Order: sequence, then C-alpha cells, then structure tokens
Amino acid sequence: MLIFRKPIQGVERPQMPADIVIVGGGPAGMACALRLSQLIDQHNAVHADSPFSKESIYVLEKAREIGQHCLSGALLDPRSMRELLPGFEKEAPLDAQVTKEAVYFLTGKSKVKFPITPPPLRDHGNYVISLNRFVQWLGSKVEEAGITIFTGFAGSELLFDGDRVTGVRTDDKGVNKEGHQKSNFEPGYDINAKIVILAEGPRGSLTKQLVSKFDLAKDSNPQTYGVGVKELWEVPSGRIGPGEVIYTMGWPLTTKEYGGGWIYGGKDNIVSLGFVTGLDYRDPRLDPQRVLQEFKKHPFVAKLLEGGKMIRYGAKALPYGGWWAIPPIAGNGWMILGDSAGFLNSARLKGIHLAIKSGMLAAETAFEALKKDDSSAATLAGFQKNVESSWIKDELWKVRNMHQGFEHGFYAGMFHTALQMVTGGRGLRNRYPAIAGYQHMRKLADLPVDGGNEAHLLGPAKGDGRLTFDKLTDLYHSGTRHEEDQPSHLIIHDTNICNTRCVKEFGNPCQNFCPANVYEMVDDPTQPNGKRISLNPSNCVHCKTCDIADPYQIITWVPPEGGGGPNYDGM
Ligand code: SF4
Repeated sequence: MLIFRKPIQGVERPQMPADIVIVGGGPAGMACALRLSQLIDQHNAVHADSPFSKESIYVLEKAREIGQHCLSGALLDPRSMRELLPGFEKEAPLDAQVTKEAVYFLTGKSKVKFPITPPPLRDHGNYVISLNRFVQWLGSKVEEAGITIFTGFAGSELLFDGDRVTGVRTDDKGVNKEGHQKSNFEPGYDINAKIVILAEGPRGSLTKQLVSKFDLAKDSNPQTYGVGVKELWEVPSGRIGPGEVIYTMGWPLTTKEYGGGWIYGGKDNIVSLGFVTGLDYRDPRLDPQRVLQEFKKHPFVAKLLEGGKMIRYGAKALPYGGWWAIPPIAGNGWMILGDSAGFLNSARLKGIHLAIKSGMLAAETAFEALKKDDSSAATLAGFQKNVESSWIKDELWKVRNMHQGFEHGFYAGMFHTALQMVTGGRGLRNRYPAIAGYQHMRKLADLPVDGGNEAHLLGPAKGDGRLTFDKLTDLYHSGTRHEEDQPSHLIIHDTNICNTRCVKEFGNPCQNFCPANVYEMVDDPTQPNGKRISLNPSNCVHCKTCDIADPYQIITWVPPEGGGGPNYDGM
C-alpha cells in the first residue's frame, strides 16, 4: 500500500517568526525579494531613525541549489529586468541577443516559412538564456542584498487563522516510506509570517490549497495549461547561430491539438529545442514526450541536429489561460505571483518578464504593508490594483482570448486570432469562455482503435538512441534525484478508480502524459482488470502535468522532501 506524503501529526515544530516569507525561488520570487531589499535600503537611507530589517524576510526554495528546478525555453524579454536592475545586461548570464527569427508551418515532410514574422513572435532585442543560470545569478544578488534563501525547504502547508494566512509549514525531513520517523527525522518549521507570497511556478501546491479553500477561481475561467518538453543539444558549428530563433506550428500535431515547437540557438553551439503540447488534447494515449521525438524526426529539424548530441532533458507545465484565468492575486496575508497566478503571454510564449514584474509589484505592496504594519486584505489589494494599472495588464489584455479561440481546433483558432488582432484582443466578444483542459479528453470507446491521424503521437516513443529517445533515456539527462525512502509525493486519492474505471475508460493516460515514467500499470491478478497502478515517485521532474491532466482529477502533487527533484543545470 502506498503511503502519501503529509506532515507528521503530533510533533512539536520549531516556530519561526517572519515579516515576509516567499515560497519559491524562481524569477518571480527572486525579483520580489530583490525589490523588497531595494525598497528597504532606500527607506533606511533617509530614515536612519526608523530602519527596517531584512532579517525576517525569507525565500523558501525546494531545490538543493538555487535555480536547479528552473526550466524554460528560454527567451527573456528584458523589460522588467531593466526596471529592476538597470544595466543588468553587463553582468547577467545572457547566452545571446536575438538577431534572427523565423516561423514555419510544418507538414509531415516539408515546411512553409511565414513571409513575415507575426508581431507577437518578433524577438529582436530579447535574449536567449539558461533560466537555471539566470536564476542562480539573480539569487546571488538576493543573498548579497542580505535576504536569506533557504534551499532544500519546501512549503508543505499553509497556516491559517480563520480567513487569514498566517504562515507556512515547511516539509518534514527524515520520514520513511511507511510514514514513520527515521533516525535523522527533523520536523518542518512553522514560519509565522505577516505576509506569505506564493511564487511556486505553475500549479503551485500551496496556491492550489489557497484557491480551493477560498474558492478563489469561482469567477475566473479555468486555468488551462500546456506541457513543454525540452532537450538541450550540442550541435556541429554552423547549424544555427547564437541568437537565432525558430518557432514552428503544425506537425507533428494535427489540427485537433494545440501547441508548437521552438528551436533557439545559444552560445557554444548549444541548441534549446522543445515542444509545447496543450493539455487539452482529446486522445488519452497521446504522449507529449513522444510528440517531441516526432518533431525531431521532421527532415528540417533532423538536419539541424544531425551529428549532434542530446545533453539535457526536462519538462514543465505552463499556464496558458491568460487574463481571464487569473484568480484574485491578493487577500488577507497573502499574494500570488508569476506562473502560480497565471502571468504568461501564450501568444508570445513568454512569462519570465511578467513573473519578474509581478514580483516587483508585490514587493512594493508588501513594503507598504510593513510600513503600515497592516497586511490585511484591504492593504494587500494594492497589489491587484498595481497589476491592473501596469504594463502586465496592457500586455495580457491584448491576448485575453487567445487560447480560448483554439478550443475548437487549429483553423477556428487561426480565425479567432486574426479577429482578435484587429479588435485589440476582443474578437467576437470581450470574454471567451473556456473549460478545463482535462475535460477535452475522450474515452477510448469514442476514438479510433488505431489512433487515426494521431497514431504517430500515441504511446511511448521507442527512440533510436541518436536522434530520438525513449522516456527513461531522456529522464536520465534530467539529473533527477530524490531520497528513495520517503512517502510518495504523488497522491492518488482513490486508486480503485485507476484499477477499475480508468483502465477501461481512458487506458490510464497517466502512463502517457507523465514525461518521466512515474506511473505504470503493473500486472496484478487480484484486480478485476488484472492491472494495478504503481508509482516511481523518484523519477518525478516536478512538471505538474499529472495534477493538471488526470481526467478524474484524483491526483495531487505535493512537494517531496526538500532537495529532491531534477537538476536543470544549464537548462
Ligand atoms: Fe510530472 Fe506528475 Fe510525472 Fe512528476 S509524476 S513528472 S509531476 S507528470
């Protein structure tokens, strides 16, 4: 029987008071910490008699080291960084400035280049970066500024007092598979904070608790997601220049799925290559890792990679839903930033600059709250107002209906996109509705047995070991490592559904959509269908796809023991 990870009951936990705790040390969390530090420095320079301390501001990061869990394409629009640290280009780790971009529509064997690059995909002036290295650098700025980053600590629960968020409980360490304390057991801390800032990335586990407890999403569109599966390649020189950016639409997806590919040239002949598959596809046998392998088989892509070597692998969900899917972002003692809130421009395939800006605006509100010693909902609502009067809203408003326009396939999506471009994002109405992505998934009985036009996207990739890879080979290149002897951090609320209903209705799509082979149906003659679900949680790359795409919504991802997870070094 699987024991799932939850805080041990009945132990005394160290109590730690804090002014502010930021959960998540990605771009949003780090930008928030750095902006807070700047505001405190500015205040203290003119109010030496009433200084603020940075000692009670903490960043919690679940990875062993800063940046290790950070994954993105990644292209950086420098707008928010120029506001946060003017002149940052002189010292930040930027691989190349974008000098050339192209968009192609791929068919099975050929390609058609768009005569002009659509405005949202014009990237001149942006930078190709490794998000991992960029966040490491940003983290070093935060530490130099005197703010403490606790690495290897995950937020496992929010603490409440009535309708107020009062802090975060960190993960217990040293708990075995059976849920008992090991000799190295250390209880998690209760960090009792005036303000809790959630910057956990997409589908954050504490954000999910908060949204559910206060029904925050009731007036928003359901958030919709894609999963980006990425490989880093080292290719022979001359294949693609540093700063060259290629986007693709079409193949290997059919007109029924949403998504696209990217190829970015970095420095030293390193190529970032990946494919985003919208998690609103209909066939439960579709496998996003396989989609990337099929993409690489296209003659255009295969030629670019020929003679090269895959060196890294990773996967991450990204929130596509846009402006109408963003829940309230501030309340009594809390704020939500970056991908956790849904600040991503899906037309531009970019969210890092929005994450950074949201972190800066949250810091400004948090500092006002510290000055007033009031972190009530009324004061923190300043963050919502700041976002709504900032360029975050200007940018997202123009694409507010973008993804919803594709709910009925590629052609309908292109029609709505064109209409939205000439109406400032409105299209046929101000707010297009949406349904959650998993609701698009169809039962096997309603789909062709052989997969029809989508057959090449279904089931596991075999891989030739040169251009294409099976999932375990890819996974090996993610550097994923967890403490093996710990309760599962993937919670299946009712495994009977997996073993009895899902096996027949959907064929257990978790085996397909998980890019890390965590879920397996193994033979078990005691089960009515001869199969039972089995998990390999130590493979997990923390992409959150299972929490999002499961058709019965019975999977919950919670953080494993802090320090575990992928190592996206250089990604
Ligand atoms: Fe992603 Fe879930 Fe698989 Fe982990 S178990 S890699 S979160 S799909």
